[in-house]
Amino acid sequence: MQQIQHLIDGGALASTSGCTGAVFNPATAEQTGRVDLASVAEVDAAVASSKAAFGEWRTVSIARRTKLLYEFRNLVSDHADDIADRLTAEHGKVTDDARGEVARGIENIEFACGFAQALEGRYSEQASAGVDVYTVRQPIGVCVGITPFNFPAMVPLWMLPNAVACGNTFILKPSERDPSAPRLIVELAQEAGFPPGVVNLVNGDKVAVDRLLEHPDVGAVSFVGSTPIARYVYSTGTASGKRIQALGGAKNHMVVLPDADLGLAADAAVSAAYGSAGERCMAVSVVVAVGGIADPLVDAIKVRMEKLVVGPGDDPASEMGPLITAEHRDRVAGYVESGAAQGATVVVDGRDQVFDNDGFFLGVSLLDRVTTDMAVYRDEVFGPVLSVVRVDTYEEGVRMIADNPYGNGAAIFTRDGGAARRFQQDAEAGMVGINVPIPVPVGYHSFGGWNDSFFGDTTMYGPEGIRFYTRPKVITSRWPDPSTSSVDLGFPRND
Ligand code: NAD
Repeated sequence: MQQIQHLIDGGALASTSGCTGAVFNPATAEQTGRVDLASVAEVDAAVASSKAAFGEWRTVSIARRTKLLYEFRNLVSDHADDIADRLTAEHGKVTDDARGEVARGIENIEFACGFAQALEGRYSEQASAGVDVYTVRQPIGVCVGITPFNFPAMVPLWMLPNAVACGNTFILKPSERDPSAPRLIVELAQEAGFPPGVVNLVNGDKVAVDRLLEHPDVGAVSFVGSTPIARYVYSTGTASGKRIQALGGAKNHMVVLPDADLGLAADAAVSAAYGSAGERCMAVSVVVAVGGIADPLVDAIKVRMEKLVVGPGDDPASEMGPLITAEHRDRVAGYVESGAAQGATVVVDGRDQVFDNDGFFLGVSLLDRVTTDMAVYRDEVFGPVLSVVRVDTYEEGVRMIADNPYGNGAAIFTRDGGAARRFQQDAEAGMVGINVPIPVPVGYHSFGGWNDSFFGDTTMYGPEGIRFYTRPKVITSRWPDPSTSSVDLGFPRND
């Protein structure tokens, strides 16, 4: 069984706490590893290493930093299959999803490779006689990334490349449930040539997070995870004066207007609800069927669900893998139960599917005639359960999204450009899709929701990421005319 340690100052470090977390293969329910959980001592060692490295790293030229980022990009690309295999082995997602995750992560490194342009300052010549004013953006210092289990490779890459590109040092604290892929990514950063201490990795749980949030030498924390912990990280970190961006949970609605392309909408609903077993913060959780499209849409989704193959992520035939733990699977199944008890129609019951191994599998479920007072509607389910809420008008659908506390993504399916344009204005969400169910922005835009899906003011990666990892400094400079110098510099005298 593998033992996963911390990576600090370019080398592996074991925990002194003796505390470890169990790592499972969700497709077999076997424990495959143990991850060291940091005590305060290891967190302090990581921060000390990152702080020491910052002094030198911030002075490294833009040209050199760019070269290292390209090298890192190439190494991650060369090891994409290995990273993807680790994702499948510990998260459970199917190989195609795992490869897609790595590809989206690489996009973020590629954006960071061009950071020189994003960091260009502003210059105002002759703001007053002989006075110029200019703004530069400088790094924060030691930055921390705390990441969730569902994208163990991509989410660290939302943070790490921009943080170090801007001249910061970076400590990654990945989810303790699937730590092997983030560990390989940090190893590759070290292999790329980032000096020891520029990128460190600390594994851990609440003990590690709490120490990182209070440590006086940590300047900024990027967090992605559930809403209660995001809120906690934001309030605790800002109370100790840190810059925080904290992305939380979601409840994403997909509004389908009566004129929508039925096949396109049904395909999108199935892939966006059940892809990665619904364990995606941008998963579609609620289809809002407007008017007469409800019956044919539910039928079309059901037909597609019957063909969906659920099985081990490393089986090429599988389209959906297991859930992350047995407890989470049972919690998700509980929403099908409670939805039925509260009056929803169970069109497809994933609990009926029988699997011939011990993995944390659950079949896909579809609940129709869900109402907004039901637990399956109110809570973030984070599993393969899709709810259909029927409404009579577009206005009702838009109001439902606004009344929901989350605001990560929202999508509309329609053939009407005017309706789509209204929706992009009206939708109370940070990311909107038009005939696109999962509108995850490309690496040169930025990612972040609204309301209970996001705490902070600068969203993640892309241009907003560069803003988060730098602070502005404004210089006001006066140089007298050289003709007035007390030393003869060769300019015509002006006195
Ligand atoms: P989580 O909140 O349980 O854990 C996230 C991180 O916080 C982990 O590193 C974990 O070790 C740490 N943590 C957990 N409990 C803690 C505590 N009590 N105190 C301090 N730290 C703690 O989230 P998860 O279950 O790993 O991931 C799934 C959640 O993440 C879902 O809610 C999903 O919507 C959300 N998510 C959001 C986005 C987004 O971009 N908004 C992206 C991915 C996942």
